[in-house]
Amino acid sequence: MIKNGWVTCPKCGKKLFPINKDAIVKNLEYQCKVCKEIFKVNIESQEP
Ligand SMILES: [Zn+2]
Repeated sequence: MIKNGWVTCPKCGKKLFPINKDAIVKNLEYQCKVCKEIFKVNIESQEP
């Protein structure tokens, strides 16, 4: 779901928005602009 600093859609894999490596996100509801899938983004820590 995170690829090269971008949050990606779990359904279609499209890049949605950039995110910092040290960002923490909890239960952010987001709708993919491409396939309209609604999903929750949870980022606790990203592996280097
Ligand atoms: Zn999508």
